[in-house]
Amino acid sequence: MKVLFAAAELAPLVKVGGLADVTGSLPLALGRRGLDVRAILPLYRRFVPSEGTTGLGRSVRALGRECPVWRTDRPGFPVYLLQADDLYDRPGVYGEGGQGYADNDRRYGLLAAVALELGEAIGWEPDVLHLHDWHTAAATVHARRRGGPPTLLTIHNLAYQGVFPRESLPALGLGEELLVPEVLEHHGQVNLLKGGILSADRVGTVSPTYAREICTPAFGEGLDGVLRALPEPPLGILNGLDLKRWDPAADSAVAPIRAADPLSGKAANKERLCRELGLKSGPVLAGMVTRLAQQKGVDLVLQALPQLLDAGVSVALLGEGDPALAAAWEAAARDHPGRVAFSRTFDDALARRIYAGSDLFLVPSRFEPCGLTQMIALRYGSVPVVRRTGGLGDTVREGEDGFVFEDPDPDQLAEAVGRAVGALAREDRRRILLQRGMARDFSWDASAGRYHEVYEGLVRCAPQGGGGER
Ligand code: ADP
Repeated sequence: MKVLFAAAELAPLVKVGGLADVTGSLPLALGRRGLDVRAILPLYRRFVPSEGTTGLGRSVRALGRECPVWRTDRPGFPVYLLQADDLYDRPGVYGEGGQGYADNDRRYGLLAAVALELGEAIGWEPDVLHLHDWHTAAATVHARRRGGPPTLLTIHNLAYQGVFPRESLPALGLGEELLVPEVLEHHGQVNLLKGGILSADRVGTVSPTYAREICTPAFGEGLDGVLRALPEPPLGILNGLDLKRWDPAADSAVAPIRAADPLSGKAANKERLCRELGLKSGPVLAGMVTRLAQQKGVDLVLQALPQLLDAGVSVALLGEGDPALAAAWEAAARDHPGRVAFSRTFDDALARRIYAGSDLFLVPSRFEPCGLTQMIALRYGSVPVVRRTGGLGDTVREGEDGFVFEDPDPDQLAEAVGRAVGALAREDRRRILLQRGMARDFSWDASAGRYHEVYEGLVRCAPQGGGGER
């Protein structure tokens, strides 16, 4: 079984959020099951020229241009890199200074179109195209019209839909006739994710709860009706973690934390982290590693801050994103020296030191498709306090290995943190909480098996011979 992933990010090559973790690790788990999985993504500036990257000496033709293709096997499987310097040779991935690039239609339109052409260029035709988020959703439209391979579209976050004016159609390589509600049109505009949902052979998302939530008006971001009308409900396959990349006993960025004796490993990491961030080491330390976005509820933590500080909790936040949220956190760090630290950057090693050095880990999201940070926190012995939404409720168990609150409300957040602080105060209770969390199986094994079944189903149902409109 040959599967081509097409995505905008892939760890460790280029990462903005959890999408990269998934596209960089699920293919490895599928590879262990005997599948031949490869990926295509843009050759962004940040990994040129990267070691072990070779030009194929071949180019792929799409949307009226010829683009050279490079290959790297660094993630542990073949990744093809699409070179178009006018589009991808820039400082940012999606944009700069909180603003998306104005030509993201052209940038991702090309990527989606190339996903269909790559097979011929490299002499390797996929049995299934696995698309991720709006950036590559248009490939489903191309595949359906041209008789390409069957497609699976995974929605990693329904809030980002790739909405463009009708004038973008040529840049996207899509004809005017597709601007109809049955394909791409949504409120008079081009909506790539909607087009993907309606054109993919199967649609899925990244946790069982989010799969149900997105079919409701509260979480459907205007597309719940479209999702409810699908012949089969969206799949909800829980994300896994690459357990080698997230191993607290062997992570070179942190002092080892071992499940047999988690408390001593945690103490060493906390001491170092507090020194690094200029925090007092006495209080309970709550960590956060997150994009600064409304979705993530970082403002709720600011509202709850007086109660958290009163309860003897300090906070360390690592994140970048919304400038207004960043300014508010900068002010909080200034107002509470030694108790609140804010690092406004993207830093994988610091993220690891926060997972390892914090006692608690806050994920108060308003919605959360799956969420990886709470799973990483559990593995690194940082007790998660999460809101029950999407994948957070599917992965954290109140009182067993973490603490869960119901509504996006600062008082409920503070209460849940209070329960956690109470539990951590007792060393025997704390050890059990940590050991239960560290023992959880967040490997890809089960979910890779589900994806494998889905691919097999798609191939079984695909019309034989290809060619022509499906
Ligand atoms: P999302 O994809 O919505 O941003 P996830 O919880 O699924 O959220 O995944 C976030 C991933 O990105 C995690 O691996 C987390 O460690 C990482 N991450 C987020 N912000 C930063 C940052 N500022 N520095 C380093 N890693 C970050």
